[in-house]
Amino acid sequence: MSDRITLADLPLRDDLRGREPYGAPQLSVPVRLNTNENSYPLPAEVTDAIAKAVGAELHDLNRYPDRDAVALRTDLAEYLTARHGRRITPAQVWAANGSNEVLQQLLQAFGGPGRTALGFTPAYSMHPLIALGTGTGWVDGPRRADFTIDGAAAVEVIRSERPAVVFVCSPNNPTGTAVDPATLAAIVAAAPGMVVVDEAYAEFARPGTPTALELLAEFPRLVVTRTMSKAFAFAGARVGYLAADPAVVDALQLVRLPYHLSALTQAAARAALAHADVLLGTVDAIKAQRDRIVAEVRAMGLTVAESDANFVLFGGFDAETGRRLWRDLLDAGVLVRDVGLPGWLRVTAGTPEETDAFLAALRSTRPAGD
Ligand code: PMP
Repeated sequence: MSDRITLADLPLRDDLRGREPYGAPQLSVPVRLNTNENSYPLPAEVTDAIAKAVGAELHDLNRYPDRDAVALRTDLAEYLTARHGRRITPAQVWAANGSNEVLQQLLQAFGGPGRTALGFTPAYSMHPLIALGTGTGWVDGPRRADFTIDGAAAVEVIRSERPAVVFVCSPNNPTGTAVDPATLAAIVAAAPGMVVVDEAYAEFARPGTPTALELLAEFPRLVVTRTMSKAFAFAGARVGYLAADPAVVDALQLVRLPYHLSALTQAAARAALAHADVLLGTVDAIKAQRDRIVAEVRAMGLTVAESDANFVLFGGFDAETGRRLWRDLLDAGVLVRDVGLPGWLRVTAGTPEETDAFLAALRSTRPAGD
């Protein structure tokens, strides 16, 4: 159809012109270690429970779901309370279709035209993209060469830019390391607006790593976002959530679409949460693979960032070597992530067999140039 219009012909917003959609390649290769999914499929006892819970909703699909997802928020609050020993109430919890939607709602409510958000780059690349989509300005804050955040430099940029929203990703994607608590406290104290701590990978943190949940009682403008996509092996279901002051949840109700979370999603998530111990049973095995990747890749002479997540950032080579290595690993059947940091690649920690395949492929490419 030669008379079809193209994207360039549409009256698209000027700030979206020339942009590419976000997304890692979804390639069909034997070993997929590029999107930080949980490599373990759900066990039968959990899929049975989910199927039953979803089945029980089918008869009533003529009705809209619980708009406020009260039962699910109650279960999520219980999960956080049980895990962290500090009471989190259902009124402090909000859920949506993945933490990406939670982040979008946060910027719809607290960002928007004439306001800016600030994050410490490199961090989760959707933060600036969600800012773009919501018409929020974006400021890149600094990190040290080892990717940690310098608290004094962070406070300085917050004081000069006065962002409406500060994002702190901890453990940080793509570098893997959790933010030091003193640095986080300094950021939260300096921020004039909201501080969003994206804890998508919190369950994988090394022992003793504090969570920002501990600061919630002190700072009402603090928001902690979490997801069931990673530790819970529930990425396909799309369930993310936050914990914050109940007033923050009130704010999000102003921008959320009515009935945004389907009855099927709510039922599936509740059934999964009822089996939290089983689902989270893979976390220790994944952490063991993560630590093995860190140790073995370091032993190959490569630079590796400390990881509190289910992935490892490695590299320190020149940009061309990094690009070539990504291709060589793919040719060997192992898909890792080029996160757009020249000379670095990110690999997800999955099963022992996936680690074997990754390490064998990496060794065969001899990236250290020996
Ligand atoms: N935050 C971070 C840091 C992530 O890495 C991801 C997923 N890659 C998300 C949020 C979004 O996850 P989801 O929407 O699946 O909850």
